[in-house]
Amino acid sequence: MTGAPRVVVLAGGVGGSKFVLGVRSALRARGLDDPTAHLTVVVNTGDDLWLSGVRLQPDVDSITYALAGVNDAERGWGRAGDTERVNGELGEWGAGWPWFTLGDLDLGTHLARTGWLREGLTPTQVLERMSHRWRLGARLLPMTDAEVDTVVVLRDGTRLHFQEWWTRHRATLAPARFENPGIGDALPAPGVTEAIAAADAVLIAPSNPVVSIGPILAVPGVREALRSASAPVVGVSPIIGGKVVRGMADVCLTAIGVETSAAAVASLYGARAAGGVLDAWLIAEEDAPAAAEVAGLGIRPLVRPLWMTDASRRTALGEAALAAAGV
Ligand code: GDP
Ligand code: CA
Repeated sequence: MTGAPRVVVLAGGVGGSKFVLGVRSALRARGLDDPTAHLTVVVNTGDDLWLSGVRLQPDVDSITYALAGVNDAERGWGRAGDTERVNGELGEWGAGWPWFTLGDLDLGTHLARTGWLREGLTPTQVLERMSHRWRLGARLLPMTDAEVDTVVVLRDGTRLHFQEWWTRHRATLAPARFENPGIGDALPAPGVTEAIAAADAVLIAPSNPVVSIGPILAVPGVREALRSASAPVVGVSPIIGGKVVRGMADVCLTAIGVETSAAAVASLYGARAAGGVLDAWLIAEEDAPAAAEVAGLGIRPLVRPLWMTDASRRTALGEAALAAAGV
């Protein structure tokens, strides 16, 4: 193709942000110093929650902080070098959740966001405003402006906010299903389906298939936009060698009856030719034997190194995904 490609990435938090960093640097390596107009990230907001009066958007913040270079890469969430003075004070008041830490710098983000929401800005407008502080090199869009926070329904019928299940109980309570109340009536955020329609490449990050990519695909209109996109849709497996790289996505997959394997996740997303969303699926070298099964689903398998353990590996994966989409 001629000119710089327009790329859309669907992403969750930690795996999503590493991949977005890779795609951004792959675009920069093509001479796009500021890829903002060429890279749109549609971010999962199913993790969002209200806590101590502020609105938290964990995946949005993970991606923003990573692109800004201010994330705590070691810990995997929040701001580097953050302190927890306010959190300690909230604990003394018995406010919030004792098992859910809010960093001081992070709370600044949540306060700014909540203030703007209270003034009447939509989540899309708030994120647009928040994107000006740093040179992110990407346009971030929430998947929807509706509040569709994930609820985990346990086998005994108990309902927990996703963050309580994930952070407090470390995903140890067996889930029966995940729900996003109200998502059936939600609309994609302004710009989401337009960006997909105008894209030269649509990439699905190696994020949690159930609670990161799942909610994005569940917003009415998103699947349809992917199906009718003229661009190839390329996904990257979050499963390497039959294991999740980090986190507890395997528990989420088991809950919805999907095996923790690269081929099973490909099958969950499905081939675009068969009513699903994928044209191609990047699998790890460790999972090369799964290529035939993926091909059998009608999805083009591509065996590539999928570990994003440093900047050069992230860039190589971003480049591999773009190349798989033919851009
Ligand atoms: P969360 O929202 O913070 O839970 O993060 P995501 O949903 O974006 O990503 C979580 C997924 O990222 C996990 O299922 C991991 O298996 C996957 N992941 C993390 N690091 C890597 C990596 O280096 N390579 C690949 N392929 N997947 C990764
Ligand atoms: Ca998440």
